[in-house]
Amino acid sequence: MAVERHPTEWTPGDDHHGAFNTEVMSGISSPQTTKAHSKRRKKLSADEAVDGVLSGNRTILARAITLVESRNEQDQKTAREVLRRCLPHAGKAKRVGITGTPGAGKSTFIEYLGLQLCNANQRVAVLAVDPTSSRSGGSVLGDKTRMEELTRHENAFIRPSPSGGTLGGVAAKSREAMLLCEAAGYAVILIETVGVGQSEIAVRSMVDFFLLLQIAGGGDELQGIKKGVIEMADAIAVNKADGDNLRKAKMACVEYKRVLHYLSPFTPDWTPTALTCSAQTGEGVEEIWQMVSDFCAILEKNGALDQIRSQQNRQWLHSLLKEAVLQKFFSQPSVCQNLPVIEQQVERGELPVVEAVEKVLSL
Ligand code: GDP
Repeated sequence: MAVERHPTEWTPGDDHHGAFNTEVMSGISSPQTTKAHSKRRKKLSADEAVDGVLSGNRTILARAITLVESRNEQDQKTAREVLRRCLPHAGKAKRVGITGTPGAGKSTFIEYLGLQLCNANQRVAVLAVDPTSSRSGGSVLGDKTRMEELTRHENAFIRPSPSGGTLGGVAAKSREAMLLCEAAGYAVILIETVGVGQSEIAVRSMVDFFLLLQIAGGGDELQGIKKGVIEMADAIAVNKADGDNLRKAKMACVEYKRVLHYLSPFTPDWTPTALTCSAQTGEGVEEIWQMVSDFCAILEKNGALDQIRSQQNRQWLHSLLKEAVLQKFFSQPSVCQNLPVIEQQVERGELPVVEAVEKVLSL
């Protein structure tokens, strides 16, 4: 389901008529288009961004996220101020991560659940973490034909994965986008990810509830699934439990329940379970949402939610710090100059690796 262009800013217009307010970039923009673009749109100031986000304006929210994603130094400075001022207003949403192999029905599930919540007057933001999006053109949420109805709903805000950079970088941007969505009053944040590389771990570390969407296989349910992903899940939903597939889905569900029984729960005070659902007919989706609500209620009551989020923040600090330190270290002129020479000495066996490390660090 490849798309040729990657939308950088994709949200329904604030006119609430369902028109896309799409800003599409085709990869390389010519000086003329850049000029036309800057003429068309003045850069958002921090005050405008904060006011717009806090008043729940979707167009400004989308532009504030674009600022956060920008690599331009001035944009980054503005983004930092916006985030700092929005942060006290964030943190009130239910944060739910949804993972599953391509074709498991994540988009269909999010569309169904999102519409139910939006129709019940809840504001729902859908974000994505897809580290491959710059290569694939954004298969997750990058295709506008997905979640068509939800995209048009006035209570929904949908944002594809930021593209480019390391998984850490992509996830950091999505995390900041989540905080801005919360400050804009979105009560539910759904974060979709495909099981690529470590992206599930990144999403797990930014959400409260982590849902693994599965489909019934040929009987051997655990084939091809990373065990680590099951261990991170707060629940497994066997999707496509409809029509001829219903029996198979129920059997798979029993199998997952059995497996979960032997694993230690990821979230303290919560016993993960497996359920069946059909994102197409909607059967079972309400029960899944009820479970998420119960989860949040239990964890809020016993204070675990605050603890988990504080811990996530601390982990986040450390992981960003590590990335920044590495980048700073390797971009130092003395390291850039001398590392190739030391590398060659190691390659030729002239210098023991441990000594080489000491040498590089002393640079
Ligand atoms: P994703 O790649 O995980 O986002 O999967 P999609 O949501 O794009 O769904 C993949 C295919 O499965 C589509 O053709 C959907 O129409 C179909 N699908 C999704 N959920 C269900 C379901 O509950 N039942 C049935 N029968 N088909 C479904």
